Amino acid sequence: MFRRRFLSLPLVIGAVVIGVVSGKAIFGPPLDEYWAKKLQEEASAKETDAGSRHDRVYAPPVEAFPYKVAWEPNIPTNVKFFIWSLLWERILTIDNLNARGTYNVCALCNCSPESINHLLLLCPISVVVWNDCVGHIPRMGGVMKFSNPKILLSEWPKLNNRGMAEACWAILPYTIMWVVWSVRNEIIFAGAVLDTGQLLQRVKRTLWAWLDVVCKAVDVKKGFTVSDLLLRWDSIVVDSW
Ligand SMILES: [Zn+2]
Repeated sequence: MFRRRFLSLPLVIGAVVIGVVSGKAIFGPPLDEYWAKKLQEEASAKETDAGSRHDRVYAPPVEAFPYKVAWEPNIPTNVKFFIWSLLWERILTIDNLNARGTYNVCALCNCSPESINHLLLLCPISVVVWNDCVGHIPRMGGVMKFSNPKILLSEWPKLNNRGMAEACWAILPYTIMWVVWSVRNEIIFAGAVLDTGQLLQRVKRTLWAWLDVVCKAVDVKKGFTVSDLLLRWDSIVVDSW
């Protein structure tokens, strides 16, 4: 009897109503606050996510790696690998070798520590080579405005010309860097002696040979000999308009 009376329907309903009302009164405000805050957080998280997706899609990379600079020019494949390593600053100039406990000065000038920038741009011997090849193009103003080989290759301007002049100009910086690097290696590893005159000639002879790398480029040689490059460079490789 007691049990029956205790579980009577009105009593149960009364308890539920009291529980809901008091629960709402006790937990309502904090719960409402909790859910409002939760919804706000989710909304702002979505916004941030959309914003970052927007950035990923539209924002330009801070410094795009110049893949084309290494792989597109009409130069021999081994030179492409050299340029590729150069762009990653992985060629073994002496400053890079220093980590292995080696130290020496630049093999070309014997007066400065060797680094990629020094060897290929700033070394007095390299400056002579660059000036010999681009010094007659007034708008170039030399190559010292380029702060490193990567920027030089990425921003190398086009020559306003066609045929032989255009073909030579397009691969000129690669040729100079390759020849300077090769001569440097021959001095260090094969005991060669620097001959600046020969170095200048070698740049143009190498360039002449590389014009054969792509068949269509061979046509640009028509009417020219390597002697023309050696003797008349300043009047062949010029802006013509
Ligand atoms: Zn030097």
